Amino acid sequence: MLLTFQQAKQQVLQSASTIKSLHSEKVTLFDALDRITAESVISPINVPSFDNSAMDGYAVRLADLKQSKLLPLAGAIFAGDDINKLHWPQGTCLRIMTGAPVPNEADAVVMQEQTEKSDLGITFLGNVKTGDNIRRIGEDVKKGAITVNKGTKLTIPTLSTLATFGISDLVVFKKLKVAILSTGDELTPIGQPLSGNGAIYDSNRFTLKLLLTKLNCEIVDLGIIPDDPTQIKHALITASSQADLVITSGGVSVGDADYTKIALEELGKINFWKIAMKPGKPFAFGKIGDALFCGLPGNPVSALITFYQLVQPLILTLSGQQIAPIDLSFKVKTINNLKKSIGRLDFQRGILQSNEYGELVVTTTGQQGSHVTQSFNGANCFIVLEQDRGNVNKGEMVTVELFNTLLK
Ligand code: AMP
Ligand code: MG
Repeated sequence: MLLTFQQAKQQVLQSASTIKSLHSEKVTLFDALDRITAESVISPINVPSFDNSAMDGYAVRLADLKQSKLLPLAGAIFAGDDINKLHWPQGTCLRIMTGAPVPNEADAVVMQEQTEKSDLGITFLGNVKTGDNIRRIGEDVKKGAITVNKGTKLTIPTLSTLATFGISDLVVFKKLKVAILSTGDELTPIGQPLSGNGAIYDSNRFTLKLLLTKLNCEIVDLGIIPDDPTQIKHALITASSQADLVITSGGVSVGDADYTKIALEELGKINFWKIAMKPGKPFAFGKIGDALFCGLPGNPVSALITFYQLVQPLILTLSGQQIAPIDLSFKVKTINNLKKSIGRLDFQRGILQSNEYGELVVTTTGQQGSHVTQSFNGANCFIVLEQDRGNVNKGEMVTVELFNTLLK
């Protein structure tokens, strides 16, 4: 079955609803960074919680200013002062600092720069209107208002806002459990001498661990499984019983030793897709028991790109994130010719930068083969070339998609 990239992505995302949603847990505000809210967050207070001054200046009554532009100084209010017992005679003004509480009777705060000070008091130079430079109670957030919706990924600015409410812990979704394993007789764990002539390092499992860590998943690492259908089958059964999502790499194409495919066919409802995307044509997707399953292609570049483009959005959805992050993509000129064959959607790697005229242009990183890991060197974006497009000449417009934080 040949699928377009969009069809594949849609099917992957639709399957998320077949998995039961994650439980929740309480964590401290500090530990909530990058986690996802399991309930909406309500402000327990008004922010600001009292009328306060936006400037260093003078608190005035407009009625007094109507009588005279020169008012004697009756006192000073600092941030943190209790003004309940404040005595403020008619016909005077008060010195007031930024963030200090504004007395009820004050109509405005006049900024220092619009006044003149003398022995007699303060002379007010400009026009003064009711409410000038007073931050009103609840102006930023009203007590009881929803400030963060359920399913929101918590960023530093959001957590910073919650800290202004005095909130110290939050209910977030538990981390998604993801089991990973690599298949292939040729694989050697990194850090060990290569085990033979045809041996290579199992870089994919290492990469997956990094990606999943960055996506805040709990990882169950089942290691390297040899190309043996029985062992692969056992490993997959273990994986699916321990995790919400199982990810493998290798063994899903049409090679003679693609035993993962044989094992999967016996185990569950797995589709072996050929996706019209490059890199990353073979991709297996389905369910083993209650867990979702993604079988990535073995080539490291294909594995990374299919993970980024297809598995990442799935993981965000499964993790409880309700608003999909916005992928920043736009059109720019390519300054190189780009090799492209018609029939698949290409995710080539590029370097987006501004030229001497301050315009954004994209440069290719060079060779784009799915085994060429160097093609990520210096890259900061994908050059996304449409399925029905052929070779691209320099100067033509191409769509670029900036890498999100997963690749930075
Ligand atoms: P396969 O899909 O199993 O035929 O693998 C395709 C290519 O990816 C082969 O060159 C494999 O050696 C390589 N490969 C498979 N698994 C891994 C892995 N875990 N790490 C690095 N390369 C791999
Ligand atoms: Mg293999």
